[in-house]
Amino acid sequence: DMHDQVQDHIRGINESVNEAAELEQLKDLVRMRLNQIAEHMTTFRLHEDERDQRAQERIKELNDQIQLMERDSEKLRKKVKEEREQAMLDPLTEIHNRLAFDERIEQEYARWKRYQSPLSLMVIDIDHFKSINDTYGHIAGDKVLHTVAQLLQDKIRETDFLARYGGEEFVIIMPGTGAEEALGVAEKLRTEVEHCGFHYREEAVTITISSGVAEFKSGLNPARVFELADSAMYRAKEDGRNRCFIGK
Ligand code: GH3
Ligand code: MG
Ligand code: MG
Repeated sequence: DMHDQVQDHIRGINESVNEAAELEQLKDLVRMRLNQIAEHMTTFRLHEDERDQRAQERIKELNDQIQLMERDSEKLRKKVKEEREQAMLDPLTEIHNRLAFDERIEQEYARWKRYQSPLSLMVIDIDHFKSINDTYGHIAGDKVLHTVAQLLQDKIRETDFLARYGGEEFVIIMPGTGAEEALGVAEKLRTEVEHCGFHYREEAVTITISSGVAEFKSGLNPARVFELADSAMYRAKEDGRNRCFIGK
């Protein structure tokens, strides 16, 4: 628009130069045209300034919006992380659950395949748990589960990974630990549980556990190692309970 208007005035000046008979008349015409051009320039500048200001305001609005969105997505990311962690925990015992175990065992198995440092698995089952429930009630049973889980968590290494596998069964992944050493840990845990001095309504309740351990060896996958540890645990049951065996 501005370009067209300036072109018009230049054309007008050209015509005036061609047609004007007197210099004074030509001067007035040119002066008038130049004033008009200057006016157009001023209007143009004003419009441009306004446009620039509107653009700046819009940029600020968009920046604010981006900041809000970033804050929202950060909150969401945190929430997803918290909910994921929550989904990996067993509410009753406050230790990891089966889902967390399944994920961790795959990671440890991959590490073991790569570095070949020893890796063992322990399967633990509370003895005669049904009769604890039957004798003292379900709430007492729940307390036993919580107590045993927390005791196990407390006694294992930082690098070990404990999870509630199901009902009254627990599983421990033990990186850097061979079968014999794992059996030693199982024995220690067995004694700790046996002597934990659990009471329900001022009555002493004896808790014992049976467990089986198995070490990862070439050709064995996590499911197979679990089976070995589990069947060793069943042998411990058959053998009278409150004992630990190695699965081979
Ligand atoms: P064994 O020595 O052969 O392992 O005998 P057991 O009685 O411990 O084994 P069994 O499999 O017969 O019974 C397990 C019981 O665990 C049965 C079930 O009701 C109880 N149980 C499973 N989950 C829970 C729970 O979350 N809370 C309570 N209180 N009991 C549970
Ligand atoms: Mg069981
Ligand atoms: Mg049991």
